[in-house]
Amino acid sequence: MSSKIRFLLIDDDALDRLAVTRALRQSQCDYELVEATSAAAGLKLAASERFDAILLDFRLPDQDGLEVLRLLRSGQFNDVAVIMLSHQEDEALASQCLENGAQDYLLKGEVNGRQMMRAVRQAQQRYVIEGELRASREQLRQLSETDPLTGLINRRGFENALATAIARAKRGDHRLALLLLDLDEFKSINDTLGHAAGDALLVEVSRRFRATIRDSDVLCRLGGDEFVVLMTHFEQNAQAALLADRIIACLQRPVFLGTVEKIITASIGIALFDDDASDASDLLKFADIAMYRAKQSGRNQSRCYSPGLQEAVLNRSNMRHDMLKGLERGEFKVFYQPQIRSFDRRLSGMEALLRWDHPRLGLLLPSAFLSVAEETGLIVELGSWVLKESCRQLADWKARLPSLCSQLTLAVNVSCAQLTSNSLVVTIDKALAESGLSATCLELEITENALIKDTSEAVALFSTIAGQGVTLSLDDFGTGYSSLEHLRLFPIDVLKIDKEFVSAIGNGKKREKLLLAIIAFAKALEIKVIAEGVETKEQAAFCVEHGCDALQGFYFAKALPADEFEAAFLNQARVLPS
Ligand code: C2E
Ligand code: CA
Ligand code: CA
Repeated sequence: MSSKIRFLLIDDDALDRLAVTRALRQSQCDYELVEATSAAAGLKLAASERFDAILLDFRLPDQDGLEVLRLLRSGQFNDVAVIMLSHQEDEALASQCLENGAQDYLLKGEVNGRQMMRAVRQAQQRYVIEGELRASREQLRQLSETDPLTGLINRRGFENALATAIARAKRGDHRLALLLLDLDEFKSINDTLGHAAGDALLVEVSRRFRATIRDSDVLCRLGGDEFVVLMTHFEQNAQAALLADRIIACLQRPVFLGTVEKIITASIGIALFDDDASDASDLLKFADIAMYRAKQSGRNQSRCYSPGLQEAVLNRSNMRHDMLKGLERGEFKVFYQPQIRSFDRRLSGMEALLRWDHPRLGLLLPSAFLSVAEETGLIVELGSWVLKESCRQLADWKARLPSLCSQLTLAVNVSCAQLTSNSLVVTIDKALAESGLSATCLELEITENALIKDTSEAVALFSTIAGQGVTLSLDDFGTGYSSLEHLRLFPIDVLKIDKEFVSAIGNGKKREKLLLAIIAFAKALEIKVIAEGVETKEQAAFCVEHGCDALQGFYFAKALPADEFEAAFLNQARVLPS
């Protein structure tokens, strides 16, 4: 080596420093020595100047030598060979130093000129070789963590990046959001235009994603058409949703695949570290659940994970099976809510409301399971069970308590899905025949959605049902697609005014005025009006005063199990609130 070698000696002991200086002088090499007497001063020099070798004392006043060595190797300092100096002859310590990146370990007592220079030269050579090794290993690592098609980090790289990000988030260094992206209908592009087009598409969307995210975000391709963004620099969770919006927006421009122009969309699930999950697998799982929800809700959108979402999604897969079992095991119950006649404030009838006494979750309201029952078609079986059971119940009350129950009516809810099953008429017939209940006691509650699907078929079906003597009532009136045409086309006898309007009583605003208009309008058509969701004395008085024929709501009672309903309402002594 012909050029001057620059040394940095970090040692607090003046005598030891002298010994090193002497040894270097003896070697008769061309060198320059810079001295530091503490770890802090040494590190400062190492960061600002370029040295060929650092001679590092193992024992320093302000920091452990091994710790200084680790810092020097942390990547924040210039490349340099390091030789540890120590008074101790300790094999274990020596190998620990080598493992932590030192090139040699010398005993202070044995330092002499020739030996010192040889050690330095070897250390430098070793450092160069190690550097090359490190570089090729790094290159290999990068290759193994890179997706060759898009140049993005692949699944393996993502797993490492996620582990690092989680460790740092746990230390409180930053927050962490995981956005899981899935291209909608990528498969069909692959299938129809071929894999080359599919690849070109992936390259193009990757380019757009990269241009959309910030430098601090990590973008990975997990495989296929699945991508992930790890977001670490943000203050508010809402920023994760904003990034998702920007990603969705960057896809709005069409992608050109050869001569074909395609608009591609993505669904994104977002999970937040800690709020939702505190380890990698939960974070991914939750983002996946949210992504699934985004797809289910019509794609081309993002969803944030929340515990409620998980419950809804997780339960869904087993729910049909559980419901079928529950039906067999008698876990379903019909509860009854009283309907009160306005003019004499007496019981006029009841609405049958379905409940599921779930073995693990307890008593469930329809909102927890009805949509799944409707989606899976199980509502047909459930609905006919409700009809059968509630008809049986009212017939039983009429038989046992004839004087109290002879005039009572029973309202049963019917879902759209039951109307297309063609068996509704048969089901009603059977329920009436088996219980011996007269058709005139039965009222079917339908919502307007049921009427708009296929009007002519629905008209025919409801005419048949009305022909049986069953009353039809239009539920939740005023909330959905309300059309005067429906009232003309269908044999509707009862309007149930939704609780939304009843709760508006007293505010004098638009909805209160609408309530009055609906009542007047129903009166004109000679349709009976039932106010739902009556919760206060004032609401009850207002409804009666303005002509509602019957009232239903928590002010009188919530839906009750049959025995409680019987005890409370089918009892001579019972006095209803006025
Ligand atoms: P709905 O037909 O509008 O039934 C009225 C809902 O309002 C019931 O909720 C009832 O408990 C609730 N409610 C009654 N009074 C009040 C009140 O004063 N204040 C408030 N805030 N709520 C009141 P529930 O039992 O949870 O039923 C929800 C919906 O589930 C029903 O709405 C109905 O659409 C559906 N449903 C219930 N049972 C059946 C069934 O057997 N078959 C079908 N297809 N649907 C059903
Ligand atoms: Ca109803
Ligand atoms: Ca209703």
